[in-house]
Amino acid sequence: MDTAAKSFLQRLLDTPGPSGYEQNVQKLWREYVGAFCQDIRADVHNNVVATLRGVENFSLMLAGHADEIGMVILNVDDNGYLYFNKIGGVDPTILPSQRVRVLTKNGRMRGVIGKKPNHLLDEEDRKLPKIHELWIDIGAKDKADALSKVRIGDPVVFGEDFEEMQNGFAVARDFDNRVGCFVVAETLRALSQIKGLKATVFGVSSAQEETGVWGAGPIAYALKPALGIAIDVTHATDYPALSKNRFGNVELGKGPVLTRGVKTSELVYEMLEQTAQQNGIPYQVEVETGRTGTDADVMADRGGGIAVTVVSIPNRYMHTSTEMIHLGDLDNCVKLLVAYIQRLEDKTDLIPR
Ligand SMILES: [Zn+2]
Repeated sequence: MDTAAKSFLQRLLDTPGPSGYEQNVQKLWREYVGAFCQDIRADVHNNVVATLRGVENFSLMLAGHADEIGMVILNVDDNGYLYFNKIGGVDPTILPSQRVRVLTKNGRMRGVIGKKPNHLLDEEDRKLPKIHELWIDIGAKDKADALSKVRIGDPVVFGEDFEEMQNGFAVARDFDNRVGCFVVAETLRALSQIKGLKATVFGVSSAQEETGVWGAGPIAYALKPALGIAIDVTHATDYPALSKNRFGNVELGKGPVLTRGVKTSELVYEMLEQTAQQNGIPYQVEVETGRTGTDADVMADRGGGIAVTVVSIPNRYMHTSTEMIHLGDLDNCVKLLVAYIQRLEDKTDLIPR
């Protein structure tokens, strides 16, 4: 990963953007890809599409969702404590005592999700908390003070920003799925250098995935690509407490993860696997049995049916305040997509025969 890419990755990860509030992430993405894509468009749902025109008619959509999970302010009580609901799959049991950032009109405001000290707990306090029993303390004097800074409907993120660890590992709260938009952008950047690219590539930084996979569908309908590839994170199973016999074998640092299964195209899988093997790119395989839980699900149903697959980055501790990936998997994912996309042309047949 070169310096420009690393700095872009860091800025993407350090910019909060829960579903429906992705604007700042999208702005960053648009600026970055604007240096090498001519045609960049945004839509009403906050999706952004950057196009690289190929010389033939085959087209594909590469989608990485820009949004992350988070919370949203629901009520402020008389003492100025903020109550909230969740955006996407937030586990309330990990929230107490976390520092959060409330994304106000005037910038980010630090808050703390309060927690009764261990010394003062009754037996009944030891049960798992429900989301409406938790509160955010922003150090407000009272309700009026809080409401002079925070509005009902302001989004909130928990967890911290990007930090590199040893051996190529890194942590951040939001690898799910800033790494997807990162891979899409870097794939576009590499492909923009290639003369005579046959396929047209629609690179999409999609919105609202975490709340029900809503953003990518209308875009796929509008673009009508022959193929849709979702770039997302998947569960790594290489840490204690996860059974490989139950969840499959996915490890950090062992390459991008290809998907085989019911809804994803077997022909695309075969071609991706062959591309990886021919180019000496490490890869892993995971299995889906229907829904993939990614943008691929909504792409598949659009415009009379689009061939889809998912290429994933292995991710430990998904949807917690600290997810972990291996940075080498990002580079290998870009390499694989760049090599694969150069093979796509009008003759590419995606109908199983
Ligand atoms: Zn997610």
